[in-house]
Amino acid sequence: MLVLEKDRLGSGTTKGGLGGIRHQFVDELDIRLSQLATAFWHNFEDRTGSRHDFRERGYLFIANTQEGVAELREPLPLYERLKVPVEMVGRVEIAELVPGMRVDDLAGGRFCGRDGYGDPLVALAGFAASAHLAGVTFREGEAVVSLLREGDRVTGVRTSSGSVRAERVLVATGCWSSTLCATASVAVPIWPYRRSIMESAPIPQLANIPMTIEWESGFHFRPKGRAQRFAMPNLTADGGVEKGPAGPPSAYPGDFAPLEVPASLEPWVRARAAWRHPAFADLRIVDSWSCYYEMTPDDHPIVGAVPGVAGLYVAAGFSGHGFMHAPATAQLVVEEMLDGRARTIDISDLSLERFQTGRRPFKATVL
Ligand SMILES: Cc1cc2nc3c(=O)[nH]c(=O)nc-3n(C[C@H](O)[C@H](O)[C@H](O)COP(=O)(O)OP(=O)(O)OC[C@H]3O[C@@H](n4cnc5c(N)ncnc54)[C@H](O)[C@@H]3O)c2cc1C
Repeated sequence: MLVLEKDRLGSGTTKGGLGGIRHQFVDELDIRLSQLATAFWHNFEDRTGSRHDFRERGYLFIANTQEGVAELREPLPLYERLKVPVEMVGRVEIAELVPGMRVDDLAGGRFCGRDGYGDPLVALAGFAASAHLAGVTFREGEAVVSLLREGDRVTGVRTSSGSVRAERVLVATGCWSSTLCATASVAVPIWPYRRSIMESAPIPQLANIPMTIEWESGFHFRPKGRAQRFAMPNLTADGGVEKGPAGPPSAYPGDFAPLEVPASLEPWVRARAAWRHPAFADLRIVDSWSCYYEMTPDDHPIVGAVPGVAGLYVAAGFSGHGFMHAPATAQLVVEEMLDGRARTIDISDLSLERFQTGRRPFKATVL
């Protein structure tokens, strides 16, 4: 098995992620993927031989309107059916989960203690080391220039250094996948969408809190060591909040410029943070970055065999939750590559076919 990486492992979206791991989705398949992945996160050291700091501290959604609380309540029957321990919480419980946080403006919240967060680059290093020891070859700094296709099957790839013949090719190139698949005349609707993160100076008294998410504004934060990491929606030119893209672009761009953090974001984050917790009153932001979500039209990834092109597979377009599902995605796509279909969970709804036929199996859930 050969992994070709045009830059360095982790240099794409993975290096910019927040590392959240949650079960609180509204689509059953997402929850099942989280359950499969979380079992792996729990056993990461046994499975890979490396450490990964999965902190099972929960995800706490907080709402300041009754409508928001009703929306949070909606998927509870689904959680119950899938045995995900999620509970609605009031101000008293919220104040216990995040000591000192402002709760007088809240109408309620929802909490799952099985959720939490990890570290994408640390996990990637563990996966890569384990794969390397198992005989996988990694070639960094070698881009795939095009997929080689003969009739209705893929026969390998052409890279910046030559050609590689292969019976099976898996395209897992994040927001670059659309351009690459186009070289085999396969339309893959994945595009980049900017999101940003800011990191504070140490706030040690909040080092053990859950990932905390304001339902209405989309502002959220989690500890990273002694610091806090803040994630936020994008802001429109007139200062409005934009939680996700309005829709697919008219064309899928091939290369993207490195991103700068928009200047308008830091004042917005400072104001929201100071409102939410007195410990954030004089927030010192010590680092910030913008990175691309790899979006698809229904905010769900494309995973599995490409219809009509034997030997070609895709696992990309995770739309903001690719880290948490990575162990499940890897297992399931490999099952499909080796056995013809994923056995552990039926992932046929993630097939590229849905965009070819117009099938819409999911509700959208950008966070
Ligand atoms: C701000 C932010 C917050 C996020 N928060 C979370 C979160 O809390 N939880 C979560 O689960 N997810 C989160 N995500 C999403 C998550 O980080 C991504 O879904 C995930 O990292 C995608 O991984 P990937 O391997 O598919 O893509 P990438 O990490 O982009 O990897 C693709 C790789 O392909 C390489 N490549 C591209 N083209 C070629 C080519 N032609 N030849 C060879 N190599 C190529 C690139 O260099 C890159 O290294 C967040 C993302 C962002 C931006």
